[in-house]
Amino acid sequence: MDTVIPAPAPASVAVVGTPQRFPVHRIYCVGRNYEEHAKEMGHTGREPPFFFMKPADAVLPALAQEVVAMPYPTLTSNLHHEIELVVAIGVGGHNIAAVDAHQHIYGYAVGLDMTRRDLQNDMKKQGRPWCIGKGFDASAPIGPITPAARAGDVAQAGIYLQVNGADRQRSSVSQLIWNIAETIEQLSQAWTLQPGDLIFTGTPAGVSAVVRGDTLVGGIDGLGTLTVRLE
Ligand code: MN
Repeated sequence: MDTVIPAPAPASVAVVGTPQRFPVHRIYCVGRNYEEHAKEMGHTGREPPFFFMKPADAVLPALAQEVVAMPYPTLTSNLHHEIELVVAIGVGGHNIAAVDAHQHIYGYAVGLDMTRRDLQNDMKKQGRPWCIGKGFDASAPIGPITPAARAGDVAQAGIYLQVNGADRQRSSVSQLIWNIAETIEQLSQAWTLQPGDLIFTGTPAGVSAVVRGDTLVGGIDGLGTLTVRLE
């Protein structure tokens, strides 16, 4: 394609077991999808799933065993970690039934939905979009994608996040309010899913602030770990 300005390089994520990369089309995120986290955010009860997005180039891809540097973002003094299971879509579709959802999944990864909580809270109060709180540069650190066949039983996996070696978040993917298949069903009613879409499925309780110099280690059983140093 002949372009009038340089075309942006596509965002991409590493894949376990191959030098080939996973190209990122869109990043969807599910809000308040673990009950204990919903409570800590001031909500109770099972609400319909709701979604927000980050730009594809918000990914901060890491290799396995690598420490990836994340610049502390501008405009915030309350940067929060949210450890999340990320689902990578390999086959697109719309109106996907939950029972068929597994056929659309390429694999899974450990991700962080980094959040400028002060800005998000300001926007919530004013009824404004969350973009500035959620969709900033490098706001989606993500480890390599493990193909589904090699990932084990992700639906029952332990999920945790440590900061400087101390536990902040620890739960199980089995505690998701809307499970992986139900999330794909609902999301694909609102948007046509495409190969390359990533879905951040929500975070368990324990979100809290991190500062420059902190080292974050997140993990999900079967998917390895993601290590981020804030600079
Ligand atoms: Mn989140």
